[in-house]
Amino acid sequence: MKNRIYKSLFLGIGSAVVASASYALIALQTETNSADISVFTQNATLIQPTNPIEKQLDAGLKKITGSAEPALIKHTIKRGESLSSIFSTLDLSKADLHKIIHANATGKQFTQISFGKTLQLKIDNSGRLQQLIYKKNALETLSATREIDSFNVEISSKQLDKQIANVTGTIHSSLFQEGKEAGLPDKVILQLAEIFAWDIDFALDIKENDSFSILYEKFYAAGKEVGSGAILAAEFINQGTSYRAVRYQDKQGHAHYYTPEGNGMRKAFIRTPVDFARISSPFNLKRRHPVLNRIRAHKGVDYAAVRGTPIKCTGDGKIIFQGRQNGYGRVIIIQHGEHYSTLYAHLSAFSKNFKTGSTVKQSDIIGYVGQSGLASGPHLHYEFRIDGEHRDPLTVKLPNSAPVSPALLADFKAATRPLLAQLELSNKTLLAQNQP
Ligand SMILES: [Zn+2]
Repeated sequence: MKNRIYKSLFLGIGSAVVASASYALIALQTETNSADISVFTQNATLIQPTNPIEKQLDAGLKKITGSAEPALIKHTIKRGESLSSIFSTLDLSKADLHKIIHANATGKQFTQISFGKTLQLKIDNSGRLQQLIYKKNALETLSATREIDSFNVEISSKQLDKQIANVTGTIHSSLFQEGKEAGLPDKVILQLAEIFAWDIDFALDIKENDSFSILYEKFYAAGKEVGSGAILAAEFINQGTSYRAVRYQDKQGHAHYYTPEGNGMRKAFIRTPVDFARISSPFNLKRRHPVLNRIRAHKGVDYAAVRGTPIKCTGDGKIIFQGRQNGYGRVIIIQHGEHYSTLYAHLSAFSKNFKTGSTVKQSDIIGYVGQSGLASGPHLHYEFRIDGEHRDPLTVKLPNSAPVSPALLADFKAATRPLLAQLELSNKTLLAQNQP
């Protein structure tokens, strides 16, 4: 789905006029909501490199070594390296490493360093580690500083400010083009297309003068923009028809997009479990089987695809079977709520992330196309059942994703009203600007 959306975003509508887009920041908020910060890996509080730590270190060093500036080594972490292997390479004490990792609850985080990032090590002239610094992300820095025979390990973090940005634009070439010109990060443009993917075909339906208005989160640290978060509300006007969506998070912290009335924006199932595939055999209850050469109902759809092509589960659910069955070969069966189940057969391999009993989300990669079992070539055999009865996956009417539960509707309305009001306001402004 992502791929399809991405590609379709680049398709224009055949005219390339300069975009008109307006941009404003509204409604400052200063709370930090770590759950939403997809660009950062964790929340906590950590190092300002403007730093008391370094001063302490320098003072400490003078005490310990009497003189000589320690050597500063910057080491870029390579794939497969661990702190332990880096200590070996640099001939540093394993006992010190042990002290750092077990210094306190934070110490363990040094075992989760990621390749590509940089470690800073200060090593004195007798080869002893004096300080180790690891910048986890834009906001957090881990440090271990020698204190005679032990290490002081801490994590410091910059204060994160969240603002809500309101961006509007009128389409002249493509959503992607206009989105970029309006200053939206790629991630936000893709998210916008994904929210409306069930209602609008961004490859075929977009027309000149379609417009959009979105509210999304932007994050700042020390006044500098460090990332973007979720779209909170959006409107897309396609050929005169308005589509609106708002984000709502339930008490368990699950966020979904809904219409202003509280209906789900998505379908509970995507139609096709594989991209880059063609239908090699449709649903047919009177088919002659290509391998068995006798009439045998074909109770699913076959998608021919290259061996190893990823297979997506088509709806949220639970894997009730993952393993081998005679004709199916490697097969996965997923139960979706009470009435629906889907089946994926002839796989070359299963995803390592799931097994029988696992919960899966729509579009999770569950396995890979192959030809295990009774198959004449690599393909996915896909079945869709309602109350145990086989239905044609290509034509079956797909249910909508769940609406806001009646018990939460009042809370939903209260939470989303200000966002919808802001959308409306920005649309009026946009319309006024677009008047000749
Ligand atoms: Zn089949």
